Amino acid sequence: MLSIKFHKNPERIGGGITEIIFNEHRLIIDLGAELEYEGVEPNPNIDGVTIGKEQCDGVLITHYHGDHIGLLKYLLPEVPVYMSKVSQEIGLTIYDRLKRAKLLASDDKTIDRLENAKLFSYEDFGKDFQIGAFTVRPIRVDHSAFDALAYLITVAGKKIFFTGDFRSHGYTGKALYTTLEKYVGKVDVIITEGTMLSREDETISEKELREKAIDICNEHRYILYLGSSTNIDSLLSMSSAAKLTKKAFCADNFQKEIFKIVAENSKSDFYKNPIHQVKYPQGLVIALRMSQLDFAEAFYKKYGQESVLIYSLWDGYITKKQELQKLQTLWGNRFIQLHSGGHASADDIKKMVEICSKEREQTMVIPMHLENFDFFSKLKLPATVRNLQQSEELLLVP
Ligand SMILES: [Zn+2]
Ligand SMILES: [Zn+2]
Repeated sequence: MLSIKFHKNPERIGGGITEIIFNEHRLIIDLGAELEYEGVEPNPNIDGVTIGKEQCDGVLITHYHGDHIGLLKYLLPEVPVYMSKVSQEIGLTIYDRLKRAKLLASDDKTIDRLENAKLFSYEDFGKDFQIGAFTVRPIRVDHSAFDALAYLITVAGKKIFFTGDFRSHGYTGKALYTTLEKYVGKVDVIITEGTMLSREDETISEKELREKAIDICNEHRYILYLGSSTNIDSLLSMSSAAKLTKKAFCADNFQKEIFKIVAENSKSDFYKNPIHQVKYPQGLVIALRMSQLDFAEAFYKKYGQESVLIYSLWDGYITKKQELQKLQTLWGNRFIQLHSGGHASADDIKKMVEICSKEREQTMVIPMHLENFDFFSKLKLPATVRNLQQSEELLLVP
């Protein structure tokens, strides 16, 4: 018997837990926390996984974003965790920092689970690993998290492709379709994200972000860049724009630590040296994150007229956070929104499904990590779309 189950609501952006069940074998993909959850999200109470006696072959983690690893703290210690080496190292850097700032509950087990994870490094991507009854192939995909993984899982003669969060418009995104052809091929089931389907904002590529940043750097002396400290591609776009316009690129030690992890694990020179030296800098580009809004405000008091604030996060946060609205008012038309999203466009999803689908709609596509199933049916995919509800068990092989 082979089946698939979502432990949490798939009609929500992030915070998912997916299970593949083969007879007495079980494989979990991601243990995500809900982005919108107020307070501490409770244990999802999955017997054999987060409560009771351990009965699970393993947990595959796609990447280090909280909506994919946020509930790892509840995992029973005997259950093995698998993730990319960069996901582990960046995850540890974030959680260590939270711990030092006393922002982590004293009984939080995330650090233990991350420390004991089994790791896929660059050389392992595209290769097969046996995890219990499952043959698992980690496949590197482009996302706003570095070395994010999709997984091809083969079990009971069926191929299941779990995309995780992905896109084609980052610096390594152009490899998406050839990667899918080479390492995934035709599958029986595709479990895919659909984040962007309900969002109307135009996605700009990392390259376009860099071009726009160069123009901004040419026009202004000081640039504050407010983004995510782990959105490596966008940070590199800014660093590259700074270098070209002879500006120094500044980041704090935490940010430098993140850059170091990426540089050490990447084969590409592009990611090696974001903090470049400029002999006679003609201004500054300063990388900031959400926890440093006070700095931004203080900076405005001194250099407000000579500076620009580039806002490079989801625009929904502006409506939710008063501090951001305040900064927007301060900078006025020099508060510039420039964000290259981390998720697949409708076109990316269509092409991915075309590449991985068998003829005559034999392939089943199961959407998740999206606001609403309705948007998905409008894509008119050459496959059978199956809306799987929370806790429903979809039988693939009786
Ligand atoms: Zn996500
Ligand atoms: Zn993500």
